[in-house]
Amino acid sequence: MDTPATSVEPKKRVVFLFSDTGGGHRSATEAMIEALDLEFPGQFESSKIDFFKEYYPKPFSYAPELYPPMAKFPAAWGLSYKAFDGKHRSRAANRVTWPLVRKGARALVRENPADLFVSVHPLVNTAMVRAMQGDPRRFITVVTDMVSTHAFWFDYRADLIIVPTPEAMVKAVETGVPAGNVRVVGLPIADRFTHLPTDRPAIRERLGWVEDLPCVLLVGGGDGMGPLEEVAKALDKAHLKAQLAVICGRNEHLRERLDSHDWKIPVHTYGFTRDMPDFMAAADMIVTKAGPGTICEAFAARLPLILYSRMPGQEDGNVTYVVQHEAGVWAPRPWEVVQAVTRWVEDPEARVRASEAAARVAKPQAARDIARIIADHARE
Ligand code: UDP
Repeated sequence: MDTPATSVEPKKRVVFLFSDTGGGHRSATEAMIEALDLEFPGQFESSKIDFFKEYYPKPFSYAPELYPPMAKFPAAWGLSYKAFDGKHRSRAANRVTWPLVRKGARALVRENPADLFVSVHPLVNTAMVRAMQGDPRRFITVVTDMVSTHAFWFDYRADLIIVPTPEAMVKAVETGVPAGNVRVVGLPIADRFTHLPTDRPAIRERLGWVEDLPCVLLVGGGDGMGPLEEVAKALDKAHLKAQLAVICGRNEHLRERLDSHDWKIPVHTYGFTRDMPDFMAAADMIVTKAGPGTICEAFAARLPLILYSRMPGQEDGNVTYVVQHEAGVWAPRPWEVVQAVTRWVEDPEARVRASEAAARVAKPQAARDIARIIADHARE
C-alpha cells in the first residue's frame, strides 16, 4: 500500500548556548524559547546547552560555581574585565584560549545538529565562529548585558548580533562588527511581563504580604548577591511604614540568616522563585543589584528602582541608564537605600513619576521580536 504524501515540515532546531554564571543568561534563553513556542507553535525544537559545563575543559567548566565567589571581589572583577576589553585585547585573549577550548567547541557543533546556534554569553562567541568555519549554518549572538557590553560579545564573523540598547550597538561597531550585522531590539524577558496580573490584593494574599503596606522587593540576581542582608537590616532599623520581600535566589545561607533574625517590620523571605512577574506586579519598588535582566523586568513591571551595587565594568552603564532615564536611583550604601526608600514611601507621587519613567523605557515584547528574527535565520 502506498504511504500518503505528507506536507508536514520538519521542525527547525535551535540550540541556545548559555551558562549559569548568574541568572540572567538562563532567564533570557528561557524567554526566547518561550517566545518561539508562542509565536510559532510546534515549528521549532529548542534546546539549551551550558557550554562551560558540558563542553569546556577545566578550569572553564567550573565557571558557574566560581561566579558567585568571584563576584564577592568586585575590584578584582573590574580589573580583569577591563584588562580584556577592547577590540585588540579581546582578540588576543581569544587567540590564547582557542587551543584550550577548540576541542570542546568543535564537539559542541558536531554533536548538536542545529539549524541555528544562538549565543547568549560573551565567552563562547569567537570559539563558535571558529568551530563553525566553513559550516553553512548560521550563528547569532543575543547580547544580554544592557549598556556596558564587553568586547567578548562581539565577533565580527557572527551572522547577526542583537543588542538591547543603542549604546550597546555603538560598542559593537567600535569592536569591528559591521553596523548592518547589529540590530537594536531589546533584552528578552519572560512573556508574563507583557501581561502582568492586575489583581494585586490576590497576589499579596497568596504571597503572605500585608495588604495595605507598601512592599519593597529586594533582589540580588539569581544568586542572591551583594549586601542584601545589610540593606534589609538597615531598612528594618529605620522602622519604615513598609514591608520587605527578600528574594535570596540560590543563596540558601542568606535565607537562613534572614529567617533567624528578629525583625521589627514585616519581612518575607523566599528562595529561588519562578514567579518574579508576580512579585514585581505586587511590589511598590525594587532594591536590587544592577543586573540587566532584573532591571529590564522591573521596567516592564513599572517598578521604580533603587540600585545598591553593580559589577564594575559590566554593570556600570546599567546604573547610568536607569538614573538618566529617571526610573531609579543609585544608592551604594545601606543608609542611602534607606533614604531612597523612605522618600518613595512618604512621597507616592515621586514614586509614580519614577514608575512612569520605567514604563517608558520598557520593552516587554523584546523576546517575541527576537523570536521572529531567530525564526527567519533558522529557516534560511
Ligand atoms: N531570578 C529568578 N528567580 C529568583 C532570582 C532571580 O527568576 O529567585 C531571575 C531574575 O528574574 C532575572 C535573573 O534571574 O531574570 C537575574 O538576572 P540579572 O541579569 O538581573 O542578574 P545576574 O544573576 O545574571 O547577575
